[in-house]
Formats: sequence, C-alpha cells, structure tokens
Amino acid sequence: MDIFADGTAAPETEPAGELPEVEAARTLPLAELHLHIEGTLQPELIFELAERNGLALPYSGLEELRALYEFSDLQSFLDLYYANMAVLQTEQDFADMTRAYLARAAAAGVRHAEIMMDPQAHLSRGVSLETCVNGVASALATSVEDFGMSTLLIAAFLRDLSEESALEVLDGLLAINAPIAAVGLDSAEVGNPPAKFERLFAKAREAGLRLTAHAGEEGPASYIIEALDVLGVERIDHGIRCMEDQDLVERLVDERIPLTVCPLSNVRLRAVDTLADHPLPAMLAAGLNVSVNSDDPAYFGGYVDDNFAQLQAVFELSEFDRSRLAANSIHSSFASEERKAELLDELNGG
Ligand SMILES: [Zn+2]
Repeated sequence: MDIFADGTAAPETEPAGELPEVEAARTLPLAELHLHIEGTLQPELIFELAERNGLALPYSGLEELRALYEFSDLQSFLDLYYANMAVLQTEQDFADMTRAYLARAAAAGVRHAEIMMDPQAHLSRGVSLETCVNGVASALATSVEDFGMSTLLIAAFLRDLSEESALEVLDGLLAINAPIAAVGLDSAEVGNPPAKFERLFAKAREAGLRLTAHAGEEGPASYIIEALDVLGVERIDHGIRCMEDQDLVERLVDERIPLTVCPLSNVRLRAVDTLADHPLPAMLAAGLNVSVNSDDPAYFGGYVDDNFAQLQAVFELSEFDRSRLAANSIHSSFASEERKAELLDELNGG
C-alpha cells in the first residue's frame, strides 16, 4: 500500500473487517488498558460453557456463531455480546474466561492488564455480583504467578442504563469489598453523554477509585471534554474523535491525557472504514498520549499483538513509534510507580 509523506495512507479498497494475514511483529512488553473481559469470550469457550451449564445455544455450531461476528455498527456488536454472556453462570465460568484471556495476553507481550467487567450485564441475567466479581478476581489474584502479569479490575457501567442503576451497583460493589481499582463507562455511547453519570463518578472518586470512561468512539469530541470536565476522568477510552477538534487535541497533548485506542475494534464497528483510514498515525504525530489495546478481542479480530501486527502492515510503524506506544501504555496505567518502573526497564531492555 502507498503511504503518503504526511503519514496518511492511500485509499484502500479492501472491505472493512477483512484484514490480510500478516506476520506478528516482535512483541513488546506493554500494558493493556482497554479490555472488556466479556469481550474475550471465544466461540469455542461459549460452546464449552453452554455444554457445562446445560444450555442450548441458538446456533448449529461454531461456524454459524462465527458468521455473526460481522458487525455493521456498535449496536449490532452489543446485541451479540450480551446474548453470548448467557453462558456465564458460575464463578468457575468467569474464572475460566479470565484465565483464557490472561494466557493469550501473556503471549501477546502484555505484562500488566487493567480489565473491565460489566456487572450490570450479569445482574440483569440473575447472576449475582459475588459470582461475577469473585470469579474474575480469583483468576486475577494469581495472574503474577501464573502468567507474570500484574492486573487490576475496573468496574464498568453501562451508559445506556440509568445513573440510579449504576449507583446501586457501585454501592453493592463497595458493600462486598469488591477488589476494584477503578470505574469506567461503556456500552452505547451516542445519546448517553458522560454528564449523565456525574454523581456516580463523584461517588467513585470519594471511594478512592481511579476514573476512566469511553468517549469519542462513536460519540462526538464534546463527550471527551465532558468526561474530563464533568466526570473528572484521568483517562479516555477510545477518544479517536478528538481529532475533529483542534483545541481539544492541544489540551489533551498539554495535559498528557491517555487515550486507549483500539484500532481493530474501530474497523469492525465501522468507526473508521478501513485500518488505513485510522487516525492513530496522525494522533501519534500530534503528540497525543495514545496506546494500542484490543477492546473485545474475541469479537474484533484480534488481541493486542494482532492489533500491532495489522498496524505494522498498513502503516509501517517505526520501531520508535512502537516503543513509544508501549511506553505510553505503561505510563498511562494505574499500576504503582514501582511496577511502572519495572515494566519500563523491561521495555528498554534493562
Ligand atoms: Zn471498550
């Protein structure tokens, strides 16, 4: 593919979602900051858990399920994502799903992972907070010894539900002393602006939790400003539409606000037409604090190493850019300063 001098790519005729097979680039030690654990549920594990729990799936087999992974937008993905969660019933199911992610992420070079889960999506199916939290947390508790990976858990709230629902769930999480380090905001963005959750984030801050929110994926750049100013978040998940507002870009650069970008997710959900249209190179060139993440890797065509490999194939990122993306991910994490220093040492070959 032709890459123009300004870093933009020539028009790409390949249909969205069909990416070429590429060789994996050298894996760099990095942090994954934007990952929904429910989005790591692979079709094979969906069938395995359904069988274990005696559930009949509405698909004849793996191929029929896989064929449903072609999405036209965020909502069509969310419909399948929530339907597949039905197989998650017991603590063991949540633990098995989490362990499968940790094993795959470790192979991708992930040395620290900040994992979001959606408690409301499980409560609404009659699965208790304890079941989902304890299941995921039990796998995370041994992630260092099992996979050499530090981890922390982020409770994400569904923005298409009410703030009252979110407040109730946050109370529940605090009441059971859930081992969460942060709160996030995800699901259908457009029409559900950050300001809807002002009290939730104020309460989370008071409880000593770190704050992040999805903004500027399908929603406008103004949602990013609102997430920063009204919710007081430290990090923005996605944030790609900041590029439509030059003043905002300058502010994000000045304040070193982390943007956890998910390129393959953006292609699959048609936030961009093809990977060649992705703003990541322009974001890097603008000096934004971006990192590369997988979002919902089972659904979007790949884990963080796959994201890097596809970016490499399309944009020919320099070794410097790839190291910068990895370093950004470490600096932008909620890990302790000591852990960050360890990871940066590892990245720099120390
Ligand atoms: Zn996400």
